[in-house]
Amino acid sequence: MEDIRKTLFYEQKNGYDLIDTRERTLVEDYAADYMRFLDTSRTEREAVANAIDEAEEYGFVPFEPGMELKPGMKIYQCNRGKALMLAVIGTESLANGAVIAGAHVDCPRIDLKQNPLYEEDELAYFKTHYYGGIKKTQWVAIPLELHGVVALKNGESVEVIIGRNQGEPRFVITDLLPHLAADQMKKTMAEGITGEGLNILIGSIPYADDGKDKVKLAVMSLLNDSYGITEEDFLSAELCAVPAFDVTEIGFDRSLIGGYGHDDRSCAYAELKAIFTVENPRRTCVCILADKEEIGSNGVTGMQSAAFDCFMEDLCAIQQVPLRRCYENSFCLSADVCNAYDPNFPEVSEKCNDAKINYGMGICKFTGSRGKYNTSDATAELVAEVRRIFSDRQVIWQMAELGKVDQGGGGTIAMYMANRNINTIDAGVPVLSMHAPFEVVSKFDCYMTYKGVLAAFQS
Ligand code: MN
Ligand code: MN
Repeated sequence: MEDIRKTLFYEQKNGYDLIDTRERTLVEDYAADYMRFLDTSRTEREAVANAIDEAEEYGFVPFEPGMELKPGMKIYQCNRGKALMLAVIGTESLANGAVIAGAHVDCPRIDLKQNPLYEEDELAYFKTHYYGGIKKTQWVAIPLELHGVVALKNGESVEVIIGRNQGEPRFVITDLLPHLAADQMKKTMAEGITGEGLNILIGSIPYADDGKDKVKLAVMSLLNDSYGITEEDFLSAELCAVPAFDVTEIGFDRSLIGGYGHDDRSCAYAELKAIFTVENPRRTCVCILADKEEIGSNGVTGMQSAAFDCFMEDLCAIQQVPLRRCYENSFCLSADVCNAYDPNFPEVSEKCNDAKINYGMGICKFTGSRGKYNTSDATAELVAEVRRIFSDRQVIWQMAELGKVDQGGGGTIAMYMANRNINTIDAGVPVLSMHAPFEVVSKFDCYMTYKGVLAAFQS
């Protein structure tokens, strides 16, 4: 009976029961590299800049349309400093398709409005407009740091990073003390903190002069000294506040990683490491770091942009292959995180199908909501191919689904890739506290996601 059970049942094991000490070392080494990347990649621009720096060390060169492409060549193209495409040219023609991995490097955050600076009752603030799906109550009373660029009329750009390094000042959105929160506590969590209430405290000392808005003037004068900007320059700025938490190991056993932006920089890094590792692939490997996923993948730097098609079409043109032929034979891992089953909230999960921490890379056949609405539901045949690729290369993985049916839902870039007639499936790292200022993933699952993307590239 035990034998029959073993043969017939699909049973999963904790990943740590399946790897040896040699692979445990690889998990730790990979996690250390990822933590360094995450610590210095707080915005999509910083993630892209760091990715390019590392790519150039691995021999990637900027792609020029019409350049000669030899098998094994490593190229990249940056889209407006906010998205990135890298490729390693395969020995086979692009007519046989490419192997694509696509992650996003934008994360939920607090963007500054275009007219952000104001003074209220002798305190200076920034007005904000949050970006992506956040629970607003999680973003008050935590330290924030400021990142972004101020584009000047003269064509120059000023980069701003303040609060990341020890000793630099940080910022905060204040919350109401419990002593006076009787009314607030009766509100729902969605209403307790409002969007217009997310004002960032940035200063309190008045300018030594008469007149109004003296604290605002003092802050503006500091900004002018440091960055040479005036208030009007905010109009053409992209500045955002992100949590000022360091990336850190979690747990007595240090098996987990806490930090801001695991969704989806944990998958972005897995893809990068994989494309840096792959040598002379059969099919051309493409790695995408996309922007704007958290707000629907729209815009010039989002996955719905033709920027990706342009890049692929330029590659195909060099080999005289129609783009549509390449697409129909391509395979895409939409590398995005999934939710990890959380024992603190079992009521939203369905244990047979939710991904679990330390069970490996999570594969989502579909995402969406309300009866699989708004998703690319990968074909059974594609899932079978993924099973084969992963089992050939000892990738530990699990099926994943976003909680109970009708509990909520979400999307990824998968459907925008699939709509291009590219066979696409979601795959990524299971996350606890997803979209919170401090998210948690397991080192093991991060490493297996890298191994999974590499397996796809090498297939
Ligand atoms: Mn995501
Ligand atoms: Mn997300």
